[in-house]
Amino acid sequence: MGKVGRQTKLSSVTQAIRVLGDRWSILIIRDAFQGVRRFQDFLERTGTSRATLTNRLRSLVANGIFRRTLYTNTPPRYEYRLSPKGRDLYGLSLIAWRWERRWAPRGAGIPMELVHTPCKHATQPVLACVHCGKSVTIHDTYLLPGSGTGVRAPVTRRYRRLSALTAASHRGTHRELTHIADIVGDPWTPLVIAAAFFGLHRFDDMHRELGIATNVLADRLELLVRERIFSRRLYMRRPARHEYKLTEKGRDLYGYALMSNAWGDRWLAPPTGPPYLIFHRACAHELFPVVRCSHCEHELVPGSVIAAAKPRAAAAKVGRRKNSG
Ligand SMILES: [Zn+2]
Ligand SMILES: [Zn+2]
Repeated sequence: MGKVGRQTKLSSVTQAIRVLGDRWSILIIRDAFQGVRRFQDFLERTGTSRATLTNRLRSLVANGIFRRTLYTNTPPRYEYRLSPKGRDLYGLSLIAWRWERRWAPRGAGIPMELVHTPCKHATQPVLACVHCGKSVTIHDTYLLPGSGTGVRAPVTRRYRRLSALTAASHRGTHRELTHIADIVGDPWTPLVIAAAFFGLHRFDDMHRELGIATNVLADRLELLVRERIFSRRLYMRRPARHEYKLTEKGRDLYGYALMSNAWGDRWLAPPTGPPYLIFHRACAHELFPVVRCSHCEHELVPGSVIAAAKPRAAAAKVGRRKNSG
């Protein structure tokens, strides 16, 4: 993406992380796209505690991702539905699914297959440029300052950290996206990854750019090396200094970062516009990423994709829907 430095803190991806850099919120949004609306169902599927779920749903409502409506009066019970701002996270959720499918450890809850119902084929979500239609990778983009450069972005509500459970202690009934949630579901880790996409690879540079406490930064880099998002290389012996380069698994998070950034631009950027713009090399136009079907190339919109444990089961389900309708 090009070495720009000093961009990470201002960027829309950072704003998006304030909302989405939380393991439980990622899983709650995952379940909402599967049609879940009620507290008890979120509780069972995500495996979180009641206190954490209450806190996260409250924050997601405060941040305008969900709308809460009363469905019974005595006792009062609420349903949580995605707002337009929340539904706009669908592409991001699909990109997360694709990454998970590729990189989640075996036996850690195999992600489901996806079927695109309009074309009835198994689909891999593909990140593409709205303007030229070509697919987008990390090597195809560059940055230019936008009109909101130097402007403080609006403050979004942060989460209180109540629970540090990870996949190892995960007890929810649904495990899709738990691997990516363990990596980006924290306020700091995605910032460190974003800094690497902005061309920062050394501890001191990241520390200066992000302003994270050194022990927290060291801890997150350790985690990212352990999860094979970064490889670590000694570039100076005395004193010992390391640089951190994205591995293939790490670079493959670019789609997730790009979709988070685009969502942040649409919903969280200051009124003056986003702090910088991303351009697509192939067409030299500003990049507005969309997620498309690998088979028919139509955009994958909410409700057009179904998931099933096995591809055949998913295909059969589409057939039945067609026959019954
Ligand atoms: Zn393009
Ligand atoms: Zn399709």
